[in-house]
Amino acid sequence: NPSVSSHFIKNIVIDDLQSGKVNHVVTRFPPEPNGYLHIGHAKSICLNFELADDFKGRTNLRFDDTNPLKEDTEYVEAIKEDVRWLGFEWDGLFFASDYFEEMYERAVLLIRKGKAYIDDQSAEEIRLTRGSLTQPGQNSPHRDRSVEENLDLFARMRSGEFKDGDKILRAKIDMSSPNINLRDPALYRISHTTHHNTGDAWCIYPMYAFAHPLEDAIEGVTHSICTLEFEDQRPFYDWVIAECEMEHQPKQYEFARLNITNTVMSKRFLKQLVDEKIVDGWDDPRMPTISGLRRKGYTPEAIRSFVREAGVAKSNSTVDERMLEHFIREDLKLKSPRTMAVLRPLKVIITNYPEGQVEMLEAENNSENPEMGNREIPFSREIYIEQDDFMETPPNKYFRLFPGNEVRLKNAYFIKCHDFVKDEQGNVTEIHCTYDIETKSGSGFTGRKVKGTIHWVEASQALPAEFRLYEPLILDEEKGDSDSFMEHINPNSLEVLQGFVESNMSSAQPQDKFQFFRHGYFNVDTKRSEPGKPVFNRIVSLKSSFVV
Ligand code: ATP
Ligand code: MG
Ligand code: MG
Repeated sequence: NPSVSSHFIKNIVIDDLQSGKVNHVVTRFPPEPNGYLHIGHAKSICLNFELADDFKGRTNLRFDDTNPLKEDTEYVEAIKEDVRWLGFEWDGLFFASDYFEEMYERAVLLIRKGKAYIDDQSAEEIRLTRGSLTQPGQNSPHRDRSVEENLDLFARMRSGEFKDGDKILRAKIDMSSPNINLRDPALYRISHTTHHNTGDAWCIYPMYAFAHPLEDAIEGVTHSICTLEFEDQRPFYDWVIAECEMEHQPKQYEFARLNITNTVMSKRFLKQLVDEKIVDGWDDPRMPTISGLRRKGYTPEAIRSFVREAGVAKSNSTVDERMLEHFIREDLKLKSPRTMAVLRPLKVIITNYPEGQVEMLEAENNSENPEMGNREIPFSREIYIEQDDFMETPPNKYFRLFPGNEVRLKNAYFIKCHDFVKDEQGNVTEIHCTYDIETKSGSGFTGRKVKGTIHWVEASQALPAEFRLYEPLILDEEKGDSDSFMEHINPNSLEVLQGFVESNMSSAQPQDKFQFFRHGYFNVDTKRSEPGKPVFNRIVSLKSSFVV
């Protein structure tokens, strides 16, 4: 009883079950622990876990850790946390490195069958003799080594006799194959590197393209789902399964990877942003990582809805980043309290309000969701408003405060400006207004109308707060995933402001989410907030013209 919308991979699974090709479904999410997960990975996670769920199958989390140079336990832990946070629980937790012994034995089997040989050529020589789309490759001078010699050399590679790059194990397939991936691809390389899981037990490591099909077969994966770049690898995937005589035969299927406008989406590039300190770590709220999105204030529900809407396609495309924003607004609209925050404060003195008096006013917590109830907010002679809610000489159609004009203070009274104070540089530092007690919010006053409603916070009890506003990290819509992305970094991707929130926010906890009237949705930052001084990340502004 499939729960999510249909797509071509799901149709393949349905056919396979109906035809009896498979009688159950096993998928896997196979990250390499060489960085943090990004929203592209979220697509693969949702696809694999939801597909198995739909058919009462299983999904493994498998760390594809065959390249010790780039892998680290820190990444393993972060990946586990992110998968769980997205709302998924794996059936089996595996490491490709747990299968190194079996992979080695399968490689020995290939040598015995005359299907693999040790090459002494350098990586460069191998690259140059591989040929091209229009030109066949050339056989290595070592291609016809005897099985005995190959077995001996491979054992000595394992025992550590040779240096990195001295020798390599290659499949013996066809140097003139039209598919370059079948021109004797590498199976094992020498790397005297400590591995995060196996330590120094090994100094040879299987290549990804050899290891991956074996991992799937060992785990009994039925549908091995990967991104389109691996389409040309499929014949080699099937070759490995067949020639290594794997009992279980998984099948590979490819779908289009998720790309988003103005977004870097490759661990390699994201790592560069971290290493070069363009951002403040993998979980910087500007990063498209799961941890960055979480810290910015995205919810698992919004991310899951987004990747579902993006769909599972057979050809690559780029999704508008505003679609992601659409889904977080939808998710938070009815869930998050709506309160007032002043990001760029300007003091207002209400000159006819009694000095020393503070009254409590009633405010709705969410005008679209009455179930969220009401709260009380203080009001007194001194309040803060936004600097740009006052202009000395306003343009046409400016309905906020200016000398002689009256506005509504949200949840409070009408106030009218009669004076203002400037400093020596000519900046307005203080506004003087009068209020009209008849106009109290909720009193049903209809005597006259005003065109502008502005927000505010009472000054004596206001809680100081920091606000961090984000813009896209990459300026060019399309350049996010090209090598030139560093030339398109937005120098103004972060703006930090010091302002005030309502006093009741002193109990806000990290990851609490609010809608600040007129400003958008904000999240309490997990790392920068301090008791009595919350730091808010803007998740998204209130409105977008984007329609899904
Ligand atoms: P990157 O290029 O960002 O380093 P990767 O594919 O090398 O990504 P892996 O850790 O190997 O990273 O990815 C784990 C799984 O996530 C793979 O099955 C991969 O196909 C999938 N995946 C990675 N990026 C995307 C994406 N943008 N959209 C959909 N799936 C993705
Ligand atoms: Mg990879
Ligand atoms: Mg990669």
